Amino acid sequence: MSELKLFNSLTRQLETFTPVHDGEARVYTCGPTVYNYPHIGNMRAYVFADTLGRVLSYKGYKLTHVINITDVGHLTDDADAGEDKMEKMAAEKAQSIWDIAKHYTQAYWEDIKALNIRQPAHWSIATEYVPAMIAYAESIADKHCYELESGLYFDTSTVANYGALARAKTEDGEGRIDEVEGKRHAADFAIWRKTPAGETRQMEWDSPWGKGAPGWHLECSVMSEALLGLPFDIHTGGIDHREIHHPNEIAQNQARCGSDHSGARFWMHNNFLIERSGKMSKSSGEFLRVQLLIDKGFHPLAYRLMCLQAHYRSELEFSWDGLQAALVRLKRMVMGVSNFKARHAELGSASYLATSESKTLKQVQGDVAPGISAALNDFAAAVSDDLNTAVAITSLETLIGLKKVDAAQHLAAIAEMDAVLGLNLLTLSRTDLRIRPKAAVITEAEIETALTARKDARAEKDFAKSDAIRDDLIAKGVEVMDGDPLGWDWKLDI
Ligand code: AMP
Ligand code: ZN
Repeated sequence: MSELKLFNSLTRQLETFTPVHDGEARVYTCGPTVYNYPHIGNMRAYVFADTLGRVLSYKGYKLTHVINITDVGHLTDDADAGEDKMEKMAAEKAQSIWDIAKHYTQAYWEDIKALNIRQPAHWSIATEYVPAMIAYAESIADKHCYELESGLYFDTSTVANYGALARAKTEDGEGRIDEVEGKRHAADFAIWRKTPAGETRQMEWDSPWGKGAPGWHLECSVMSEALLGLPFDIHTGGIDHREIHHPNEIAQNQARCGSDHSGARFWMHNNFLIERSGKMSKSSGEFLRVQLLIDKGFHPLAYRLMCLQAHYRSELEFSWDGLQAALVRLKRMVMGVSNFKARHAELGSASYLATSESKTLKQVQGDVAPGISAALNDFAAAVSDDLNTAVAITSLETLIGLKKVDAAQHLAAIAEMDAVLGLNLLTLSRTDLRIRPKAAVITEAEIETALTARKDARAEKDFAKSDAIRDDLIAKGVEVMDGDPLGWDWKLDI
């Protein structure tokens, strides 16, 4: 199988993946700060990390994936300015931070499931690691930190090449704001934030530097080391983390293990999902959540496909038309697979299919048909080329479209590709993809009756009647799409 090449943000180059531990891949993904619902842009970061994990499994590595949940320490600004996002939301909602964290962690996990993102080996919850964070900070404090009234700060001049990941031109990092009085360098950052005198925070812990809470950057260094050991293979996150959060994690890892240690061999970053109006945000305009897509009648896997159609390093602009196109494409694939199953059932190979359902291609008897192996080779080459899922999808479509090939081989090959792309093609049905929008005023049975009447009218060449039925359906939110594989769809006023 082709070598796996991945783009390493550290070197800004494609590099061949070789694991730290033979046969294993250890991956850490910066997870959400659970102060609000994730938007679909955030979820692009996890679709990317999941795809990476699936490709590593496909390549035969035993994967250990960690995603953290940040329930303390992330300020409203990635530098040291602003309030703790969790404290701020708890105050706004007049709820306890713990309830806020629980609610939004649950909501995030629902989105993870809806997008068919595999469960990582560990969900590491930041507040469960605070004693480990204090011990870690103590271990580097003497050589690398200094104390100010507001907290314990990391001195970025104590490690070599600080900011190399961000390609910062000066040690202070261009454009960085010195928000805290007394910091030795603008880029220095808090690893422990003391609770200001006279205040109490909902979340605070005793430490050698007084009551307070850990810094956000410290969390990820501590949890990745605790669960994966240093160095591990790949650290992922959104492209914004390349500028501050990950350089700061690297600085801490260097303090812990020596300056030529960044902690992870590969640092990989997904680019942003953007809206036409610019950056995606939770507070302006329509809050684009996975649930909103479902409410508007889109199956969440159409969004997964939309992400996979773009390269993870390219910016992707969200549009409802783009999502609609992805949904139609997904439908075509699902129908292709079910037609193929039906075809083989007719030919009497149904029992063969039933027993081959769980077989891998290696377990299927006989030489693999040339059409199937060509599609598989193209697929392998595409995903090995820095996760080129856009091309891999076309290999899957070619495979689905093959005719007159052995049913068991065909099914096993589709399953192999689908395990990487995570589209659930073997279990999704066309009816699963027809989601009734929340605002719909007509039932599916009523639509079917109207469509039968329209068909009869067309058969009788009564086009006035058939157009009237179509117009009536449109008025009720249903568009008759004669070119669409499912024939009708909910019309979305967006
Ligand atoms: P947060 O909960 O803000 O820490 O973000 C969670 C993840 O989403 C991080 O990896 C961010 O880098 C990533 N992210 C934030 N906004 C976007 C976006 N519009 N598109 C893709 N990834 C994003
Ligand atoms: Zn992180």
